Amino acid sequence: MNLGPIPQAEAHRSGRSGWLRAAVLGSDDAIVSTASLMIGVAAASVSKPAILIAGIAGLVAGSMSMAVGEYVSVSAQRDSERASIALERQELADEPRAELKELAMIYMSRGLEKELAMKVAQQLSDHDRLGAHMRDELGIEKGSRARPLQAASISASSFAAFAMVPIVALLISPQPLRIPFIAFSSLASLAALGGFGGHLGGAPIGRAALRVTIGGALAMGVTALIGRLLGISVS
Ligand SMILES: [Zn+2]
Repeated sequence: MNLGPIPQAEAHRSGRSGWLRAAVLGSDDAIVSTASLMIGVAAASVSKPAILIAGIAGLVAGSMSMAVGEYVSVSAQRDSERASIALERQELADEPRAELKELAMIYMSRGLEKELAMKVAQQLSDHDRLGAHMRDELGIEKGSRARPLQAASISASSFAAFAMVPIVALLISPQPLRIPFIAFSSLASLAALGGFGGHLGGAPIGRAALRVTIGGALAMGVTALIGRLLGISVS
């Protein structure tokens, strides 16, 4: 018997849009870190190539770091899923009756009467025994198993795509307006992403957008200040 988490409506929601939320978070990260890096350099130097190189280096470093981080964490999740499934398979082979009863208990805990729960457990087991235990006992949906490579490539590419926001802003901005261009385009993108992320998570959209925008503005402000001070002291 393996008393794993019993999925609820909430878990369901995050399962379906889990990778999308990860992508949105990676995108926030991309905008804040790349824009801050570029603003820090822009505050210290007027050299467009230097700011551009900082932005591109930030894009590459961030994408790689997201890919590695995501690969490691999703691999760990996949390993634990595999271990649970192997254990479950063993238990089903060793104690099929106890496992059937366990499944029925899960349905009873969700509101079915004993007789009906037994019937449902029996029929679902006849149809796909391991599948029923995976879904209803372990909370692992077949379609949403952890995929490390997919997770790594989604977060790396969303990071790279959104790191382009401040880079493009630099390329199209006139020299005296570089910092405001980078800051405003980045904050506008953050607000849009924050609202979208809030929508996915079922949170109030305005608050989610505001939170990430204020966070981003603070990050950019701090690096601008430090860049300014370093620029003065180094030159
Ligand atoms: Zn079981």
